[in-house]
Amino acid sequence: MTLIPFNLPYVTGREAEYLKEALSGGYIAGNGRFTKKCTDLMRERYGYGNSLLTTSCTDALEMAAILSKVGPGDEVIVPAYTFVSTALAFARQGADIVFADSRADHPGIDEERLGELLSERTKVIVPVHYGGRMCDMEKISSFAAEHNLLVVEDAAHAFGCSLKGVPAGKWGSMGCFSFHETKVIHCGEGGMINVNDPTLFGRAEMIWEKGTDRCAFARGEVPFYSWHDTGSSFLMSDLNASFLAAQIEEADRIIAKRKLLWETFYHLLSPLAGKGLIKLPPAGEAGGECNYYTFYILTSDKKERENLQAFLNASGIQAVTHYLNLAASPYALSRGWGRGDKDLQNCIRYQETLLRLPLYFSLEVKDSEYITGQISAFYGERA
Ligand SMILES: *Cc1c(COP(=O)(O)O)cnc(C)c1O
Repeated sequence: MTLIPFNLPYVTGREAEYLKEALSGGYIAGNGRFTKKCTDLMRERYGYGNSLLTTSCTDALEMAAILSKVGPGDEVIVPAYTFVSTALAFARQGADIVFADSRADHPGIDEERLGELLSERTKVIVPVHYGGRMCDMEKISSFAAEHNLLVVEDAAHAFGCSLKGVPAGKWGSMGCFSFHETKVIHCGEGGMINVNDPTLFGRAEMIWEKGTDRCAFARGEVPFYSWHDTGSSFLMSDLNASFLAAQIEEADRIIAKRKLLWETFYHLLSPLAGKGLIKLPPAGEAGGECNYYTFYILTSDKKERENLQAFLNASGIQAVTHYLNLAASPYALSRGWGRGDKDLQNCIRYQETLLRLPLYFSLEVKDSEYITGQISAFYGERA
């Protein structure tokens, strides 16, 4: 039987070469030669001028939360339909989390309803570019400017995306990326923070290096380094950076293949969507460029999704659900951040009906045809 896992981490071939180079260079800790190579590539290709590689996107978000200076008494607006880390990083600094609903047509944050969540205590909004489709950053930015809020983009899904010519992670004060092996490009575990507000970057470097001015020391600007601020050891090892450099170099090719697969899914599933049996993600790019990170379908209800998922699993296809409503998580409830299901209707609909299909570089078009064929068979059998 065909066995199609949900994800397979892609290795371009160059990683081994760069790893060997890193190993023979005699320095494999953080902020080394390959970190610089990645950072240079990020600047030249994507305009990320003040970026720091981190051990994960979770760490990048933690840095962003520290840089935001939020603490007890402050509120941070986060979508309820997201990964734990989006909220955790700010919660860890003592802030209260206010959960936003998703859009009706997409799991991204509902930009139109931010006003309902605003209070005197609101300090930060954290939009998540779900599935590589960017939020309406023009609306979010103007809302934030009007109410004097910081915007931290959780761009974990969005490396390679842009909106109106501006890359993901460059709209907000800060943007955080993930290079976990399930993401579009990766190094096993890894992340990056891009700091767009230049007044924050000096502090970001210190937080990155255990609260010290070790970056300035490495540049020969100070004769020794000392303790100045809070922080942690957020920096990525140069071993991971060497792997990541190979991936950044191939990012365009990786995204082009994902686009081909994504569009094949979309095209072949359109007849089912036309009959109203399933819903597809919004097509077109809404003024932006997408990295085709996720392809999902929406079933009519939870039971149908369960049946479809079981049917696909039995056909060797690992289709998977996604997030659980964070506002109903045990931790959020214990902190009193819960919200009624009525306030989070769209989030709950995605929680119950969204099913993601396998999508990764080494997947073949014929595999995507097999997957869509099985989905059609499922609905055909029931028709
Ligand atoms: C993957 C992910 C993260 C966390 O990334 P790590 O690199 O695994 O820490 C954060 N936010 C979102 C939306 C993610 O999908």
